[in-house]
Amino acid sequence: MIPMVDLKTQYQQIKEEIDAAVLGVLESTRFILGPNVDAFEQEAANYLGVTHAISCASGTDALQLALVAAGIGPGDEVITSAFTFIATAEAIAYTGARPVFVDIDPQTFNIDPTEIEQAITPMTRAVLPVHLFGQPADMHRISKLCEHHGLALIEDCAQSFGAHIAGRQTGGFGPFGCFSFFPSKNLGCYGDGGMVTTDSDEHAAKLRILRNHGSRERYQHEMIGFNSRLDELQAAILRVKLRYITRYNGQRRTAAQTYTRLLKDTSVVTPIETEPSHHVYHQYTILSEQRDEIMETLGKAGIASAIYYPVPLHQQQAFAQHTEGLILPVTERLAEKCLSLPMHPELIRQDIEQIVSVLKTTL
Ligand SMILES: *Cc1c(COP(=O)(O)O)cnc(C)c1O
Repeated sequence: MIPMVDLKTQYQQIKEEIDAAVLGVLESTRFILGPNVDAFEQEAANYLGVTHAISCASGTDALQLALVAAGIGPGDEVITSAFTFIATAEAIAYTGARPVFVDIDPQTFNIDPTEIEQAITPMTRAVLPVHLFGQPADMHRISKLCEHHGLALIEDCAQSFGAHIAGRQTGGFGPFGCFSFFPSKNLGCYGDGGMVTTDSDEHAAKLRILRNHGSRERYQHEMIGFNSRLDELQAAILRVKLRYITRYNGQRRTAAQTYTRLLKDTSVVTPIETEPSHHVYHQYTILSEQRDEIMETLGKAGIASAIYYPVPLHQQQAFAQHTEGLILPVTERLAEKCLSLPMHPELIRQDIEQIVSVLKTTL
């Protein structure tokens, strides 16, 4: 059996440190907004090269908090990709704004800056690119475009912790970067968790108030906020795992290189890396006309694989009111051909060899 992710092997490797961190929190009985949250936010901000990191209860909340802090609400439009997890656009819809879906680049799966430009209307207030599968979106062009049109830039970094472009980390390009610490993400905790990054003192102060019932001082509520905090247990676990993230992302990259080398000279399209972007392979996603056949053959051999994402967001019933008649040809074509293969830091070379040799029997 080869799974998509292997959290058990990873836990066993760092068990002593994790267990000590968890027990420390239990003994302290400080569970909400305590020293581990403070320390983790500081350590994560340092790692990412941003001024502030504000943790919260999930990646979905991180997106919503950032959108609210950016002042997005009813009547506004936010341009995003339809080739992503539902949370990206769900967060937009929660604020009362309209998600505007545009097409993607067929090589990177990421939002196409030319398509963004064409979708801008007088109602557009923000652009929400996703660094899908751990590959940075074209931030050079997207940042410029946002600046030029006066739009807020909110990055969905749920799959891209540690990805960078020439050393500049995702999450640091615009006023807001939104991260998820869902267990299977590159940096994952043992439950739900999220974080917003920003370089602005003003945005940071607002995000801290918003995540805690609109309150800076106990029982003084200056705005309608949320109950969305990272808890101390998760922060303590994340502090341990943050020390390994560079190594983990490096191991993912090594695994990706092995896949790509073994799949060379086949009909399968492998992920590309566009210099100077540093891809962190949250997923290793291939394209093939024989996608369904490959998936079935792998499954019979006890090898997991998954389709991210089988139904693009503009074809989801939940967004039907915003997407009538909308056709996104690249997104739709890729959704029919994409397949993600097992990918995690603990994936060993022999497993990759086995996966590829089984896969090749279908070609
Ligand atoms: C996982 C994910 C989210 C949501 O994160 P949660 O922590 O599960 O709420 C948002 N966007 C993308 C692209 C994701 O992969």
